[in-house]
Amino acid sequence: MGTLPELFGSLVFDDRIMRASLPADVYASLRKTIDEGTRLDISVANAVASAMKDWAVAHGATHFTHWFQPLTGITAEKHDGFITPSPDGGVIMEFSGKELIKGEPDASSFPSGGLRATFEARGYTAWDPTSYAFIKGKTLCIPTAFCSYGGHALDKKTPLLRSMEVLSKQALRILRLFGNDTAKRVVSSVGPEQEYFLITREMYDQRPDLKYTGRTLFGAKPPKGQELDDHYFGVIKPGVAAFMADLNEELWKLGIMAKTEHNEVAPAQHELAPIYTTTNVATDHNQLTMEIMQRVAARHGLVCLLHEKPFAGVNGSGKHNNWSIATDSGQNLLSPGDTPYENAQFLLFLCAVIKAVDDYQDLLRLSVATAGNDHRLGANEAPPAVISMFLGDELNAVLEAIETDTPYEGTKKTVMKLGVDVLPRFSRDTTDRNRTSPFAFTGNKFEFRMVGSSNSIACANIMLNSAVAESLRIYADRLEAADDFEAALHDMIKKTISDHKRIIFNGNGYDDAWIEEATKNRGLSNYRTTADCMPHLLDEKNVTMLTSLGVFTMDELISRRDIMLENYCRSIVIEANTMVSMARTLIAPAIEAYAGDVAGKAAAKKAAVPELKCSYETTLVSTLSTLLDEIAAAAADLDTALLSLHDASDVVEESAMIRDTLLPAMGRLRVPCDEAEQLTAKSFWPFPTYGDLLFGVK
Ligand code: ADP
Ligand code: MG
Repeated sequence: MGTLPELFGSLVFDDRIMRASLPADVYASLRKTIDEGTRLDISVANAVASAMKDWAVAHGATHFTHWFQPLTGITAEKHDGFITPSPDGGVIMEFSGKELIKGEPDASSFPSGGLRATFEARGYTAWDPTSYAFIKGKTLCIPTAFCSYGGHALDKKTPLLRSMEVLSKQALRILRLFGNDTAKRVVSSVGPEQEYFLITREMYDQRPDLKYTGRTLFGAKPPKGQELDDHYFGVIKPGVAAFMADLNEELWKLGIMAKTEHNEVAPAQHELAPIYTTTNVATDHNQLTMEIMQRVAARHGLVCLLHEKPFAGVNGSGKHNNWSIATDSGQNLLSPGDTPYENAQFLLFLCAVIKAVDDYQDLLRLSVATAGNDHRLGANEAPPAVISMFLGDELNAVLEAIETDTPYEGTKKTVMKLGVDVLPRFSRDTTDRNRTSPFAFTGNKFEFRMVGSSNSIACANIMLNSAVAESLRIYADRLEAADDFEAALHDMIKKTISDHKRIIFNGNGYDDAWIEEATKNRGLSNYRTTADCMPHLLDEKNVTMLTSLGVFTMDELISRRDIMLENYCRSIVIEANTMVSMARTLIAPAIEAYAGDVAGKAAAKKAAVPELKCSYETTLVSTLSTLLDEIAAAAADLDTALLSLHDASDVVEESAMIRDTLLPAMGRLRVPCDEAEQLTAKSFWPFPTYGDLLFGVK
């Protein structure tokens, strides 16, 4: 490998390459498109396409693809060759501006929630020039948005770009009120910390549950789990270190700034964090990171599990979404400033986030809702399903002082008057870290911790950007109309604090008493499952906000709700089927064989020594037989529960049936199986145990 600076971005058609390979006027107009969102001329597109193709071919690429993020949650690509016959019987490599800008994948099997059926059968992909093209294998990948011809978004990127646009627009209105006439854009940035598990390929291959569902559906608790807290930040094992080194190199080549890596709380669990970047680029990069993690793991004889809860009883995996907003010149709007005016501006943006999180708790919750993440939220480890915000003692005291017009002790002045007093500088105090809060302020950014490890970060950021844009829109409307700006500002900040302080909570988010307090006294929502929260996407206040800002159309919202619920139902049904099959074809036969073996040995002993009681064997065989009966009965119940799903009239009803009947029936089948595992000789058990899986990587 070359040096890191040589390696970094070597497979990306980034600004350095564009500047070097494009004619000056072409480069200038492309830059304008990237920075300001201006329309791209076809002649410019042709020149860019040609330079892109030459660069890609020089790097060994033979194909190109429009790379997009359909609603399945993974990325999609369809490869086309550059190869074109030439009149002399040979071939030339061609790639036109038209091919760069627009593609028409045969998209009929991507979920559209009825959008394509209602409007137009075909979908098309459109180049997103703000995310650089890159080479994967032998293919030039062009990041694109995916829409129907009726103009409806069939992907996650389109609404994400729209949400970034509306946030920028509303934030600029606020900045103008504070006298900033130079900012052209406000950009949201994200640094997603990605958690994952690594297990050996050999063991993975023996577990149908991991192969079909990404998580274990059976498995007794091992004698050692994460009780000793000896894994977190522990020494990285050589096999894992080799994987991480290889992964970093692959990510760096793609211009992904993988920066920190460490062991996580659970055995076999690790984390990778990149340096933050613009939200849509961070989203593309995170999708790529997840894909490359799996590919690199395979090279090392490992499997990377991105499921939110691969193992019961040990921590699941999340993806902390570190989010901030800044001007195009780099001023972080969530960073307290030096002057009174900057501080007032900071407090206004802070309040906008507080109001957004309180008003749209449900949207944030459902933006991370999947069957997998339901196991994690509220499971006494990750953030609970109740959303609250952590601000820290210092900021809390400031807000309290403003709300009650009382002196803030941190300043020498008496009662704080916004726009006059200077706030104390907030230190980024890492000792004062609340790790249980779903939404924590960490000095100059917010960390949204409910995102699941396999989730695309697009959904959470669409909702976050939109909800904050909505707060800012309301603020800007009022402030623009105010006669006395400072008085109006002060009142509005005060009002936001008193109206929305219920969302602020600085204690332990895992505590049962908090859930009680949050739901009973504060009226915060607690949607434990996807089936509970997803229907609220269509609540009137949510539809009004998202459609009036232009982030989603009504049809897009309906389609998304249906697709997400559909996905929830299908994944759990696959799990249930896998359980029934494993119980009947692997677990029961293993128990039966072992019980038979024990019984046979007892009979042989008795034949040799007739007066022997063999009570150990008798009890064991009898216990195992009882467990077998229980397994058979629970498997039959699960079959019945699966069959009853056919009675559901729509996907909302089906998801509720799954939550109320199917999931509990799955739990009932697991119990006797896990119990039997602990009584059955290891040599008879048909697949690796939790202990094997969690401690198997060398
Ligand atoms: P930790 O949370 O472990 O203390 P950091 O706070 O340094 O670590 O960073 C965690 C993640 O937050 C990283 O991906 C980092 O790039 C990102 N991050 C840091 N500053 C910002 C910011 N202003 N906006 C968005 N993300 C940020
Ligand atoms: Mg962090």
